[in-house]
Amino acid sequence: MEDNESGDVCTVCQQAVTGGFDVFSGFQNDGTPTVVVEGTADRNFNVCDLCNDTVCFRCSLHPESGYCNPCFRKVFGDAGFVDSVGEAMKQ
Ligand SMILES: [Zn+2]
Ligand SMILES: [Zn+2]
Repeated sequence: MEDNESGDVCTVCQQAVTGGFDVFSGFQNDGTPTVVVEGTADRNFNVCDLCNDTVCFRCSLHPESGYCNPCFRKVFGDAGFVDSVGEAMKQ
């Protein structure tokens, strides 16, 4: 395991990312444990919902999706992917 406590870096550009997640845990009235995870205001990265890669917003084609770029393509297919990006990578 890598050290995830601090010094997280984007897996794409290897730059340090800022911000993080606050985790609130508690119990519902019936005793069911609940965990709420909220990004902090200065967070500039996503942790991919599928592969847990850290990707900063600058490198993410779809930061609002919560997925890294390869996983976004896996989930949404090429329809959600701009063709020009693929062509640029071939050159
Ligand atoms: Zn990056
Ligand atoms: Zn991913």
